Amino acid sequence: MSDDRIAAVQVDPQSTDLYASREKIYVRRVKGLYRALRLYGGAFLFALYFGVVWLQWNGRQAVWFDLPSREFHIFGLTLWPQDFTLLTFALIICAFGLFFITVFAGRVWCGYACPQSVWTWIYMFIEEKTEGPRNVRIRQDKQKLTQKLLAQRTAKHVLWLIVALATAITFVGYFAPIRELIPNLFTLQISGWAAFWLFFFTAATYINAGWMREQVCIYMCPYARFQSVMFDADTLVVSYDKNRGEPRGSRKRGVEVSDKGDCIDCQICVQVCPTGIDIRNGLQYECITCAACIDACDDVMNKMGYEPGLIRYTTENALNGKPTKILRPRLFGYGALMVLMIGILAAWISLRVPLDIDVMRERDQLSRVLSDGRIENVYTLQLLNMTERPQTVNLLIESDIEISFIGPTTLTLDGSANQTLPVRLVAEGDDITLPVHDVDFIMSLADDPDTSVKQESRFIGRSNL
Ligand code: SF4
Ligand code: SF4
Repeated sequence: MSDDRIAAVQVDPQSTDLYASREKIYVRRVKGLYRALRLYGGAFLFALYFGVVWLQWNGRQAVWFDLPSREFHIFGLTLWPQDFTLLTFALIICAFGLFFITVFAGRVWCGYACPQSVWTWIYMFIEEKTEGPRNVRIRQDKQKLTQKLLAQRTAKHVLWLIVALATAITFVGYFAPIRELIPNLFTLQISGWAAFWLFFFTAATYINAGWMREQVCIYMCPYARFQSVMFDADTLVVSYDKNRGEPRGSRKRGVEVSDKGDCIDCQICVQVCPTGIDIRNGLQYECITCAACIDACDDVMNKMGYEPGLIRYTTENALNGKPTKILRPRLFGYGALMVLMIGILAAWISLRVPLDIDVMRERDQLSRVLSDGRIENVYTLQLLNMTERPQTVNLLIESDIEISFIGPTTLTLDGSANQTLPVRLVAEGDDITLPVHDVDFIMSLADDPDTSVKQESRFIGRSNL
């Protein structure tokens, strides 16, 4: 993107160890507009995650991914395995949403809304409250372990584990109703699977947000690897204005310097960075666009009496003095496609036939001759009511020969019922002209016959006996 290059370093392949151990990052606290956005945005997402699982809808958990029954309940909508394509389409829309945001403002999702970032900010907050600010933590890490230090670290890890456990319970609560899960947990009556996933998500949260932090974003997250292909010279990114900042150099507040730019080389933008990079080296894939460095530098600029914005959200074109176009055709293209896809999804859901029928033939005896000479085939119907309210349905068959349907032609299915119904089809032996006749089983709503589902099957004649 930019003509700037980070200076190449000569390395000796014989003596260079390709493994680099992690250098601990001591993140400094920062205040400012973007921190407030992250704080309130994160609090909202946190409340959503921990709150929605407790909502009730029609006497059951409002959002409940019931895997054993293969039913996904999302408020009034129940999705079944038959709705797999619909779910896939919804996920594709989410992916397009991410493309749209990335084209517009780079990795802004990572900095503000990604669970890894939100939970890491919370863990950092706990760390600061228990162990003190950045400089104290650096000093303490070089000291011998004292009783006070041990107590502080114990408190930090206990609080981290409490957050991790609460996160795991909530997550599992979306799959096993949380109002039963929590009492079962305290009476040690949870299932083996629930116990496994609770342990897994507690450990994953504690390790990812407490210990691995930026390494997840830098080394493990696939999005970090491919997001750069969505960037262009008009994408909003966090950038340092080197034309204004360089040559950098320290100075006293209020002292005019003519041979230096506005960067006073205080390093505070580096100290607040959760991934430990120096944004003055240019755009780097480690940057999660959290804007902590903007808040930090603006604060420094204000104290120095300079204009804020030495580090700011801007585009590569704007930095290079070229015209920039944030609202550009590519962005409109993604946006229009997303709106169109959301419209299709909404229509898909609203026009979805809330019934399904599956037909299984009796395996033991494909066809039998009755005492009066008629031919009989036996089937088992699997009738699915995909809504949560009872529905009365009609059953009928269509075929090229006259076939009698022996079984209930009208019945009421309970809400979310997946009902098995044995039925028989009987035809006059003389009517059967072919070894096999096609037959369609049709189920329709009693109060709306146009809403129907059809399943094809076969009627086996005498010659196959
Ligand atoms: S915070 Fe601003 S002034 Fe300080 S080193 Fe970073 S860019 Fe320079
Ligand atoms: S460089 Fe700035 S925006 Fe990027 S991750 Fe670091 S603090 Fe956040």
